[in-house]
Amino acid sequence: MFCNLGFMKRLRYQVWKFPPSWKSVLPLGVFDFHVEALLSKVRRNIQHFDDHPALHQFPAQRKQNQTFRALANELEALPEVVTPWETSDEDRIWWLVNSLVFDGAWDSVFCPECQNSWTFSDCAIEDWSVGEDLAAEGGRLLMCPRHHLLCRSREWNS
Ligand SMILES: [Zn+2]
Repeated sequence: MFCNLGFMKRLRYQVWKFPPSWKSVLPLGVFDFHVEALLSKVRRNIQHFDDHPALHQFPAQRKQNQTFRALANELEALPEVVTPWETSDEDRIWWLVNSLVFDGAWDSVFCPECQNSWTFSDCAIEDWSVGEDLAAEGGRLLMCPRHHLLCRSREWNS
């Protein structure tokens, strides 16, 4: 009997307002992410590294590539269910996961503030920015229908 084995692979993960190594991390929404969408982002990063030999001389880039390869193996090995996600490399994951949030690559998000689960179409996206001229930064916010913050991405700085 045919069945789509990739269909139910999901990772449950609570996103943070700031990169975890910052002192003031703040837990936000708990998302059920689509593993395939995450895996394709990770594979693109690995491919980019493989395609650019000049990157191979930088220790930070080599370390990042090792992290992505380990993550790809981990994601491929996941069972076809929703798995709570434990990761030891939260800062690198933070950037990937934030982009998944705003791509809508998840089924539902649990809002700790109002104790409800919401879908992407329930939520609103807002822009944020602080500062001005050459000392400004900004990004996007995902808000639950009751206006609680579910995810905050930092996407630019001047
Ligand atoms: Zn809420």
